[in-house]
Amino acid sequence: MTQYVIIGDGISGSSAAETLREEDPDADITVITDEGEPLYNRILIKEHAKGKLPEAPISIHDEEWYDERDIDLSLNTHVTSVDTDAKTVRTHEGEDHEYDKLLIATGGTPTQLPVENSDADGIHHFWTFQDARRIREAAENSEQAVIVGAGLLGIDFAAVCGAQGIEGKYLMRGDRWWRYALSADGAEIMHEGMREKGVEPVFDSGVDRFEVDDDGHVEAAVDPNGERFECDWAGVAIGLTFNTEFLRGSGIERDNGIVVDEYMQTNLEDVYAAGDITRFYDVLLGEQAQNGSWGSAKEQGRVAAVNMAADAEEEEFEWVSSYSITHFDFPFLSFGHPTLGDEHVERKYSDTEWRRIAFKDGKIVGGVLIGDLSPQSKFKQLMREQRVVADQAEVLLEQSVDLDELAPAQEQ
Ligand SMILES: Cc1cc2nc3c(=O)[nH]c(=O)nc-3n(C[C@H](O)[C@H](O)[C@H](O)COP(=O)(O)OP(=O)(O)OC[C@H]3O[C@@H](n4cnc5c(N)ncnc54)[C@H](O)[C@@H]3O)c2cc1C
Repeated sequence: MTQYVIIGDGISGSSAAETLREEDPDADITVITDEGEPLYNRILIKEHAKGKLPEAPISIHDEEWYDERDIDLSLNTHVTSVDTDAKTVRTHEGEDHEYDKLLIATGGTPTQLPVENSDADGIHHFWTFQDARRIREAAENSEQAVIVGAGLLGIDFAAVCGAQGIEGKYLMRGDRWWRYALSADGAEIMHEGMREKGVEPVFDSGVDRFEVDDDGHVEAAVDPNGERFECDWAGVAIGLTFNTEFLRGSGIERDNGIVVDEYMQTNLEDVYAAGDITRFYDVLLGEQAQNGSWGSAKEQGRVAAVNMAADAEEEEFEWVSSYSITHFDFPFLSFGHPTLGDEHVERKYSDTEWRRIAFKDGKIVGGVLIGDLSPQSKFKQLMREQRVVADQAEVLLEQSVDLDELAPAQEQ
């Protein structure tokens, strides 16, 4: 009987456990997580922090779900090391779990700002359900907040401010939100959306230090220009530090995350990884890539489990990810790898509609749609087909995209 150990019960670890049970009904499956609750919907915790959603619908599995599938779940258990020669996983309680095949699905932890008082009371990071509960409580009892981190997670803090009627100051380093994927035109739509929610973007700013009161609670952020922004709390979302600390000395290849091939296998036989933690070989992009999104993590967990159970390179991970934001009056969607590529085209259609497409070697590798998401499935289809279309930007930028207007695909 094969023994599988999965570290992490986020969507990638949990989807792997579910698939393993389907693929290998007799196997011994253990899932270890350092969180105190089984899988919940990380995408929805922002709605809880906004005060819009109670706890119950956010939970996905209860402990019974694991019992019913004969999956051994260890909550509140932190893995401290992996011995890949002895094939054991050690927990903080000194317990060793033996494995035949191991899946690492440990995701990341929000990075702290490297500035004075960055760990003060009232400075929040956003990753777990527990974080969301704390943010909700802070937000419900406050009038003003500071947000740092001009990316997809930072904007959730802005939405919390908007929903809770808090005056927010969103301190950004450059001249716009998500400057790696948006031009000034696209970003301006997002800035207007923030302003309508009572959140003011502050450009060429950031945080030089936080100031705290006598109780050690944050009371202001001071930016590099010396400007002081008073706040009852601060939300920091400047990126993720991948949870690989416990793999030191394990021989598992890491490069800002765990390196895996398209089968989710690491450099070591019998060790796989899935989800945010991976630097995986993206078969559509033709290079190693990273991707922090729910759908992709779920699929990576499934694919890893299929290959683990088959003990073979049975299935490749091939996926076009997407990440949407629904906080504003207009929808927003990023797909694929919008910050990569060697060329891009874009167009603004109205005050709330904009589109940008990124290409690599003439093929679409990602993009951003604001206001009108209707072309998304066509762009994703072109990505999957790996069609060279960069020279037909006019067709792709038409308000209503008609793929029949594209010149026939060339033989590759
Ligand atoms: C506020 C917020 C909003 C988001 N919104 C969206 C969205 O709209 N759309 C979208 O696609 N994605 C969104 N995401 C991203 C998405 O949630 C992640 O990409 C996805 O959850 C990653 O899943 P994972 O299983 O790879 O990692 P995680 O969900 O991070 O799970 C990893 C688990 O491993 C545990 N762990 C780590 N180290 C250890 C250890 N040593 N021992 C034991 N356990 C350990 C962690 O505690 C955690 O429970 C959002 C994320 C957040 C935080």
